[in-house]
Amino acid sequence: AVDAQLGPPHPRWIRVNTLKSTVDEQLDTTFKGFEMVATVEEVMASASTGKRLICLDATIPNLIAASPGIDFTKTEAYKAGAIILQDKASCFPAYLLDPRPEHGDIIDACSAPGNKTTHLAGILHERGFAEGQRILAFEKDKQRAKTLEKMVRTAGSDKVTVIRPGADFLKTDPNAPEFRSVGALLLDPSCSGSGIVGRDDTPEFHLPSPGGSRSPASVNDANPKNLKRKRESPPTQTVLVDDDGKETIVSSEQALQTRLEALASFQLKILLHAFAFPAATRVTYSTCSTHAAENERVVAAALRSDVARQRGWRLLRRDEQPRGLREWPVRGDPAALPPDEDENENGAGAGAGAGYGGSREALAEACVRAD
Ligand code: SAM
Repeated sequence: AVDAQLGPPHPRWIRVNTLKSTVDEQLDTTFKGFEMVATVEEVMASASTGKRLICLDATIPNLIAASPGIDFTKTEAYKAGAIILQDKASCFPAYLLDPRPEHGDIIDACSAPGNKTTHLAGILHERGFAEGQRILAFEKDKQRAKTLEKMVRTAGSDKVTVIRPGADFLKTDPNAPEFRSVGALLLDPSCSGSGIVGRDDTPEFHLPSPGGSRSPASVNDANPKNLKRKRESPPTQTVLVDDDGKETIVSSEQALQTRLEALASFQLKILLHAFAFPAATRVTYSTCSTHAAENERVVAAALRSDVARQRGWRLLRRDEQPRGLREWPVRGDPAALPPDEDENENGAGAGAGAGYGGSREALAEACVRAD
């Protein structure tokens, strides 16, 4: 059925894990009996027909859209880590980062549950890892780091991934010798999750965890006052409670603004920290949020910073982006930027992003440092 607000049901997105399998192998096994069609729209339209359709995604290599509602979690390929259930938008950041053997070590700053960490590994595996090249995966939450470890192991990327369970990316020293060769960083920080659709829980106050788990939000790191939403009462008001149990009643709109400000300030810190790694030439920044405050405005603020100007960070031009993304029509929302700030110093549109209206809405941003 077509939902009036959300549109037709979203397809199931399946990323073939190139560390363990190939698209051809999966077409012959997991997708045997499925009919191949040309467009995602046809796949989406098959929801109520009971047909089993698939199509190869035109933007992201090794990504398949399958008819909505099909459960792949019982398949051998899923259990063996040969396929990963990862929404299309969640595949943009690693592909946009375009990690290569010459980039040296790659940092995934906010890794759990590991969809993008394993995607980075899959891309590098296809290109061939350089001798000693590693993916350094940070995850501040020890519990979530366990999920990350499991996913990395199942995906067969444990030999090339160094997991730092409980490690806070913001506490690293970019100039430490161990990070001397870090050439690229993927930043996918905690966010409001406002762009997550197609789940039966409320996205606000949940950490986005592509792949389906539903961990409650722990945004204390992003919230200087440790304010947590206690209840909605009445619906237009929100009761916030701080660490000392003190309650404050605010309008829900005000509560959202407070939270977005805290998140944006944390997200900006992550981006500025990444800019400081001496050998870094590429960074991607992504969220599962539809709020410009967490997307375009964070990137615009980062590009106005001293570290960005000193090191020459700028947005990646369309012609510098990988095939598929070059053709992707969406590039952020210039109207979301403060007046006169839709052009950065180097002339690149600071609102450039890659929104995807699929089962998860996300904005992916890429920056590259001028050599
Ligand atoms: N990239 C993941 C994926 O694609 O599967 C999803 C990451 S989720 C949006 C954000 C993660 O960052 C959470 O697991 C959170 O615990 C972690 N995190 C938040 N702040 C962090 C920090 N300062 N250092 C390291 N990890 C952090």
